[in-house]
Amino acid sequence: MNEALIIPKEIRRIAKEKGYMIIAHNYQVSELQEIADIVGDSLQLAVHATKIKTEKILFLGVDFMAEMIKVLNAEKKIIVPERSASCPMAVSLSRDEIAEAKKNHEAPFVAYVNSTLETKAMADVVCTSANAVEVVSLLDDTTVLFGPDKNLASYVREKTGKNVIPIPGESGYCYVHDRVCLDEILRIKEQHPNALIMAHPEVPESIRGESDFVGSTSQMEEFPKRSNRDEFIVVTEIGMVERLKKAHPGRKFFAVESMICTDMKLNTVQNTFCAVSEERWEIAVSEELAKEARRAIDRMFDLMESARVEK
Ligand code: SF4
Repeated sequence: MNEALIIPKEIRRIAKEKGYMIIAHNYQVSELQEIADIVGDSLQLAVHATKIKTEKILFLGVDFMAEMIKVLNAEKKIIVPERSASCPMAVSLSRDEIAEAKKNHEAPFVAYVNSTLETKAMADVVCTSANAVEVVSLLDDTTVLFGPDKNLASYVREKTGKNVIPIPGESGYCYVHDRVCLDEILRIKEQHPNALIMAHPEVPESIRGESDFVGSTSQMEEFPKRSNRDEFIVVTEIGMVERLKKAHPGRKFFAVESMICTDMKLNTVQNTFCAVSEERWEIAVSEELAKEARRAIDRMFDLMESARVEK
């Protein structure tokens, strides 16, 4: 099949005809973001996922996100274009490591949403990069277990002042954000000295220290509205740059070209066309794990709701 012949508009037409809502993560290629009904970060996708009216969803992202949407929509049919689109960080934390950490510490386990269903099922509460600081602040405990991202754990520790213990520790990180090279960012800054540096909290502390703003992708989208600058260096997966350009026409956003998640890019116009045409590949989750994961996800929603009511 010649990819050039597949018109993204055709994917939308078929999706509509077959009753699919298209949901895409911010890190998808721009052609796929263009055809989606909803584009967002993990928190936005989770919130939207609780309100979806259609019976079928075509999800464009990686497996743990598709599974969470399935958990929140047990009766719906969820399909993805590429079954092997996974997240190396999510699988870096094992059941045994969580059990061991729980045995050694009397503390709740906060699972970052970028984790497997099994990890979420073992958690006391789930969080996203947009609300990790808020969720941990709202817990009564002064010590929490947090995983799998060690960099987000250190950011939450810095912001809350709590004893945030990362599990699995040094081996828990996102390769896209953890391996980013400071020199590459500083070189972009040299070329655009007026640009502000916006970084995702999955980056290491050394990069956060050089940044003007640290936040999730949804928070990055909001930040330019509060800034009088017109140029921004975007220190997260390259797909986010297209989203920002669309959200803020007239402003300039510079990508860190090395920040590419190869798993997110496994979804293409071609395999998305095949997915919706043939209504494949359907996501299935274990009922038992889904029930336990749902409990931890609902706790996140409850904590956020209680904080909203108190404000
Ligand atoms: S960007 Fe990082 S955390 Fe997100 S899916 Fe890719 S590897 Fe996983």
